[in-house]
Amino acid sequence: MITQPLFIYNTLTRKKEEFKPINAPFVGFYVCGPTLYSDVHIGNCRTFTSFDIMFRYLLHLGYKVRYVRNITDVGHLEDEVAGEGEDRIGKQARIKQLEPMEIVQRYSFGFREVMALLNTLPPSIEPTASGHIIEQIEMTQRIIDNGLAYVEDGNVYFDVEKFAKTNNYGVISGRSLEDQLDNTRELDGQQEKKGRLDFALWKKAKPEHIMRWNSPWGEGFPGWHIECSAMSTKYLGEQFDIHGGGMDLIPTHHTNEIAQSVGCCGKTPVNYWVHTNMLTLNGQKMSRSLGNVFLPVELFTGKKLADNSPSATPSQAVLEGKHPLFEKAFSPMAVRFFMMQTHYRSTLDFSNEALQASEKGYERLMEAYKTLLGLTAGANFGEAIDIKALQQKCYDAMNDDFNTSVLIANLFEAVRIINSCNDKKTNLSQSDIDLLKLIFDNFVFDIMGLKREEENNKANAVLDKVMDLVLEMRTKAKADKNFTQSDLIRDKLVEAGVTIKDGKEGTSWKL
Ligand code: AMP
Ligand code: ZN
Repeated sequence: MITQPLFIYNTLTRKKEEFKPINAPFVGFYVCGPTLYSDVHIGNCRTFTSFDIMFRYLLHLGYKVRYVRNITDVGHLEDEVAGEGEDRIGKQARIKQLEPMEIVQRYSFGFREVMALLNTLPPSIEPTASGHIIEQIEMTQRIIDNGLAYVEDGNVYFDVEKFAKTNNYGVISGRSLEDQLDNTRELDGQQEKKGRLDFALWKKAKPEHIMRWNSPWGEGFPGWHIECSAMSTKYLGEQFDIHGGGMDLIPTHHTNEIAQSVGCCGKTPVNYWVHTNMLTLNGQKMSRSLGNVFLPVELFTGKKLADNSPSATPSQAVLEGKHPLFEKAFSPMAVRFFMMQTHYRSTLDFSNEALQASEKGYERLMEAYKTLLGLTAGANFGEAIDIKALQQKCYDAMNDDFNTSVLIANLFEAVRIINSCNDKKTNLSQSDIDLLKLIFDNFVFDIMGLKREEENNKANAVLDKVMDLVLEMRTKAKADKNFTQSDLIRDKLVEAGVTIKDGKEGTSWKL
């Protein structure tokens, strides 16, 4: 384990603090996952990629991390601030005439595939809200028993003003109760709430509501915030180390999560709250409700990983991002690199020019790695280069609140040294070369999670051509009635792990 101190910006204290896990080397890490009523967009991907870097860095430091990222499949209503309106997944189920879980299943496949294309590591546990109804009911009951929630006509509300008498309700948003009260509108039809900031822990289901469960308060469904309190407590305990999510979740979702956990267990649930800033388009937050979203498939180029998504439209094997706003498609790795060039707490504006510049940067980095693999140690040492100091600077950047932007600047210093050595302007010793390789292996591949995509793509392109040739030979053998030959080709392909399928439009194949 590397013992250098890691500093993390904590939204709770609004400063960078040294990271000290409750029970090292174990780290409990919870991130609010997506609500899967549609495809995740590039903005969501930025948030999950940022947390992937943190997960990877903690692992690199030797921590044993339990990374829990939930899937919201119930309770996230259309007006998420007021907690009113139709359930987002229920609405899609109604429109598409599908079961709500069919909606979630479909977009879960897509989400996991996009995450894999971006080379994010899967979380240790990916719990769903609907799979934890009992835990949410139990937590709600404990909050009622503690006198901080009340039942009204089949609904259970959290009593914010009562809670705020002995606790700081705005601890994470930095807003006073008065300010929040002044800026919250009174909604029609919510007279049963005692206070306008009160939020639902459990909601009574209207007759047309699809997703419903029995509870001590009648048939209904959980509020949006309680799922994260219930699932984080279940898998990480009443107090754990890190909780993350996008900054947009601070004022309502995370404010209420803290209130619920404190209201239930009497303890502050999380030591370090970490929030990612938004990906924007022309300065405006990318969001499904604003309709300004880019889907990864509209942007990515390359091979899809799986072809087994239950989506309604037949999934293609190859991605050819064709969004009209973009001159060309980009590889997922170029997009990942683009995201890491900006620190996770700054906004990141998405544009053609920025992506093109990042693609060039990513290619320069990969090119330098190839050059590094071919470098030989020099005999006479002119310029003294301290690669060890460079390695330390890379750690310093990551230890300073996961500053990938500064890390990349240091990696480009490594690129400069590699190219200069290759041009015979600088001499490197074998131990320097080995250390540079270690820097690349650790920081570029393990921590930033970049892959040498260009090479994979080249290999894929060659394989495509070879397969076209083999299938053509098989078709010809069949046409010549040489079935021994055509069967042999098929059997040998199967042996090599290639499945082929004959259809009306010809023969297709997959690995
Ligand atoms: P949702 O599915 O809307 O609940 O969002 C899932 C996660 O993505 C949350 O942590 C959001 O904060 C985050 N998110 C949503 N929009 C953006 C955006 N434009 N940029 C970065 N993160 C976002
Ligand atoms: Zn959450």
